[in-house]
Amino acid sequence: MAHDFDLYVIGAGSGGVRAARFAAGFGAKVAVAESRYLGGTCVNVGCVPKKLLVYGAHFAEDFEQASGFGWSLDEAQFDWPTLIANKDREINRLNGIYRNLLVNSGVTLHEGHAKIVDPHTVEINGERFTAKNILIATGGWPQIPEIPGHEHAISSNQAFFLKALPKRVLVVGGGYIAVEFAGIFHGLGAQTTLLYRSELFLRGFDGSVRKHLQEELTKRGMDLQFNADIERIDKQADGSLKVTLKDGRQLEADCVFYATGRRPMLDNLGLENTGVKLDKKGFVEVDDQYQTAEPSILALGDVIGRVQLTPVALAEGMAVARRLFKPEQYRPVDYKMIPTAVFSLPNIGTVGLTEEEAREAGHEVVIYESRFRPMKLTLTECQERTLMKLVVDARTDKVLGCHMVGPEAGEIVQGLAIALKAGATKRDFDETIGVHPTAAEEFVTMRTPVAG
Ligand code: FAD
Ligand code: NDP
Repeated sequence: MAHDFDLYVIGAGSGGVRAARFAAGFGAKVAVAESRYLGGTCVNVGCVPKKLLVYGAHFAEDFEQASGFGWSLDEAQFDWPTLIANKDREINRLNGIYRNLLVNSGVTLHEGHAKIVDPHTVEINGERFTAKNILIATGGWPQIPEIPGHEHAISSNQAFFLKALPKRVLVVGGGYIAVEFAGIFHGLGAQTTLLYRSELFLRGFDGSVRKHLQEELTKRGMDLQFNADIERIDKQADGSLKVTLKDGRQLEADCVFYATGRRPMLDNLGLENTGVKLDKKGFVEVDDQYQTAEPSILALGDVIGRVQLTPVALAEGMAVARRLFKPEQYRPVDYKMIPTAVFSLPNIGTVGLTEEEAREAGHEVVIYESRFRPMKLTLTECQERTLMKLVVDARTDKVLGCHMVGPEAGEIVQGLAIALKAGATKRDFDETIGVHPTAAEEFVTMRTPVAG
């Protein structure tokens, strides 16, 4: 049967746009539906605006440190509305670029909410279109626990559009978004408290990294409260928020920001009209080729809940386009050795196994660690220290993991990820000549193990 399209993509975010553009490039007839914003979460309320705010927050310490190099400044002033307006302008520009990318690659763009009405039909703005395949690339949405007063809290979606920088912020959660936004608010001058429900934040990251970041954030004056969770939030007459913790303590804030994970975005998508199944956590269940339980429907990106990172959604988009329209070029996505950064201040950069994961997987490990004061800070009062760590397999000498907390850790780890993916040994690291004077050279000069 002839269909209107070969592929109908729902969601013009990182994964959807990549799949649509490449599929069109391979000669397929493709449509993409977008209900909210071109470029999806990453471009509009994720990676990009977040990184711009992180850059903004970074200036606070740059100004402080400048005096050690002979610069003197009048007291620095920060204006939140200027930062937000400039950020919005840049995001608008990127939205336009995404529109051009899609249109120029021959993809038909439908702007509106798409609903699947049967395994080959999508309804949007009152019209129906048929497709041989439908791709669900609808992403995720912030999830706030339904405690009394949760309606007074905000998520990252609203944080990007606040009219003013709150004076006192309580950030709830201990994952990527909580740590990054606590750094943004704190750096920009808000009195910031991070509340995390368990012993130590950033569960899943290497233990030394978690501890090191805790120490660094505490040194900078951020209030970290672990084993702390909110029971209720009450709005007071003056507009401020009274927060009652489960241990009975009370705190006051002008803004309570929840970053407690993201759910798949499946609202009114019409999955009940299909055989698509969800996994135990409610994400769309797919096989290793992104095929759902409904043969004509595929899914990728945050909505499948595997690894919620933009470059992973991009790789999945490419894999789907190739699998459907260029099978001879199909290569499965390799989920091992995915490098990642947390854009906290200072940054975390990491690739490969943590020490805990390596030991748990049965590796006999040798650990190398280096802690030092970055050269740039030697002329300043700042006592920040950088951590670099290598997890090495004692038997094969392979480097299993690289971890860093310090300036530009995200930039540094990208190159290390290539080395690890290529199977580099500790000896390869040792035989690599350093770039001097940099912090990154420390990764090739660590000689004495700290633990075996
Ligand atoms: P999305 O980008 O979320 O796109 C889904 C799109 O589908 C959206 O545009 C949505 O409007 C649309 N949609 C949903 N339902 C429908 C419907 N029924 N009809 C039509 N359209 C629909 N990742 C990184 O790698 N690095 C980072 O630094 C980073 N920072 C982040 C910071 C924050 C605050 C957040 C929230 C996320 C961050 N991420 C980061 C994660 C990254 O943004 C996501 O992993 C990525 O955007 C997932 O892409 P996707 O294509 O699966 O979904
Ligand atoms: P994460 O899953 O990273 O972290 C959620 C945090 O909230 C965890 O600390 C979790 O605690 C805690 N939590 C969960 N439920 C509750 C609850 N009911 N009450 C109190 N605390 C709770 O989610 P995020 O929202 O931070 O980010 C979503 C994803 O987006 C990330 O996992 C990442 O993949 C992606 N992202 C990537 C970024 C990057 O690449 N730099 C930046 C931002 C986001 P516990 O650990 O105890 O479960």
